Amino acid sequence: MNGENKAEEQKSLNFLEEIVEADLASGKYKSIVTRFPPEPNGYLHIGHASSICLNFGLTQQYGGYTNLRFDDTNPVTEDTEYVESIKQDIQWLGFQWKNEFYASDYFDQLYAFAIKLINEGLAYVDDSTSEEIAAQKGTPTQPGRRNQFAERSVAENLELFEAMRDGKYKDGEKVLRAKIDMASPNMIMRDPILYRIKHAHHHRTGDKWNIYPMYDFAHGQSDSIEHITHSVCTMEFVPHREVYNWLIEKLEIYPSHQYEFARRNLSHTVMSKRKLLQLVNEQYVSGWDDPRMPTISGLRRRGYTPESIRDFTGRIGVGKRDNIVELGLLEFCAREHLNKIALRRMVVFDPLKVMLTNYEGTGELLSSENNPEDANGGSREITFSNELYIEREDFMEDPPKKYFRLAPGKQVRLKSAYIIQCDEVVKDETGNIVQLNCTYFPNSKSGEDTSGLHVKGTLHWVNAKDCIPVQVNEYDRLFTVENPSDEEGAFTDYINKDSLKIVEKAWAEPALKAAVVTDRFQFLRKGYFTLDPDSTATHLIFNRTVTLKDSWAKAGSK
Ligand code: ATP
Ligand code: MG
Repeated sequence: MNGENKAEEQKSLNFLEEIVEADLASGKYKSIVTRFPPEPNGYLHIGHASSICLNFGLTQQYGGYTNLRFDDTNPVTEDTEYVESIKQDIQWLGFQWKNEFYASDYFDQLYAFAIKLINEGLAYVDDSTSEEIAAQKGTPTQPGRRNQFAERSVAENLELFEAMRDGKYKDGEKVLRAKIDMASPNMIMRDPILYRIKHAHHHRTGDKWNIYPMYDFAHGQSDSIEHITHSVCTMEFVPHREVYNWLIEKLEIYPSHQYEFARRNLSHTVMSKRKLLQLVNEQYVSGWDDPRMPTISGLRRRGYTPESIRDFTGRIGVGKRDNIVELGLLEFCAREHLNKIALRRMVVFDPLKVMLTNYEGTGELLSSENNPEDANGGSREITFSNELYIEREDFMEDPPKKYFRLAPGKQVRLKSAYIIQCDEVVKDETGNIVQLNCTYFPNSKSGEDTSGLHVKGTLHWVNAKDCIPVQVNEYDRLFTVENPSDEEGAFTDYINKDSLKIVEKAWAEPALKAAVVTDRFQFLRKGYFTLDPDSTATHLIFNRTVTLKDSWAKAGSK
């Protein structure tokens, strides 16, 4: 590629990069600060990866730093297990935060902000039920109406709010609301709730608090406390931006700015944490890290690389319109990277014995390249003998024309070894094929072939004398339809019953004994695989990441 093309290939800026560049150019900021703000109520998924790559990507590109902030204002659904998994996943994706913060660290500060609003007549304690509040809110075309509680004095509001904090009321008995505008065309501006009573144990603050701030009164304030310059969230928060700005203005705190981009969704899966949790709880999958889950931990266990996930988020980009990205693109990104790095190995899933009747001696060592795509990939030794296994489906007794695999009287090459010819088919009493008797051509050895033979098919194989048994998990997409959440009935009605096929005993070349979970393999002609962490020295389990080709695209609307 020449220099000109290269420059052209440098992708155009996304709208956030444009904003950041303009802000830096105008001197509005000397450097930028972003944050990634997960709620620790589940594991991260591929949608979060977009947000992570965006937030960390901006500060990598333009300088400054990114905080990790746990948005832990909802004590009921949150857990430290999720905190740990989120940290692990971000680092695995290749990013490092500057500060690890928790919204709950700001509870005292947020309480003080609330007192300031009350003192200025900008917040009041409301005794209405949530139904009453909803009814009084009006509709987008009809203004809402304020109730008598909005008329409470500052002194009364201070007293009641303190009593809420001290646990004098039950859940739901009172809320603190901002006094903004019950006639605003933006429903969220109609006196939004700032605090609710919740007698719940919090994973960090324990039983200290009986009241917890709402999203609108925690998120923007946390941004401001951390001096976040560009606070990026997803489109559903567009109407919240007005409250975000109103609070910053009234509290006279650091003016962070909220920007929104469209959620990224993936086909043939679900992404909401509530639904993912349901899949786990109802045991449709083995856990959050089941290799069929769209979670980062699931994708990792499946064999996806951080590079392929980052590549994927880059390709789908940053936009303003919600869309569903075809799962095939994620798989494409996996193949692109794995093809470059995966070690080639041979594994026979359904063995058919081949006896080489003219092979003399006990065996020999051959060599096979680890990765033809990698000039520095080196090679490994493989053993060859007179007793081999090939794949049962690579033999046909009565083949059609243009069948290039093995058949009676036909020749094929065994990968990195010799050309063989099938002379005789051996069957048991019931007519099952149990063995092929073949001859091999000693002068057809790969790399030094002088036989003059020309064969079209090359098969993978293993040496029956030293191959090792392994379990193979063949994973496929978890749902049969593109968007299970959009279909009639429960999304779980659309689970793909064939999303996991287990090959209990496949036969692998001995080099796979040394496999570790970070290795990536291509099992020749089979797909890309990785070692499952549940493997033991005597029971190796391999997970299929992706097939070599996109079989779904060919199958059409399957
Ligand atoms: P869910 O609705 O599945 O529970 P969430 O949005 O509540 O997800 P958070 O933990 O609040 O999950 O998300 C952390 C950050 O990741 C937020 O800034 C959120 O906007 C972003 N995010 C979540 N899902 C997606 C997605 N599908 N695409 C892009 N960004 C996302
Ligand atoms: Mg959220």
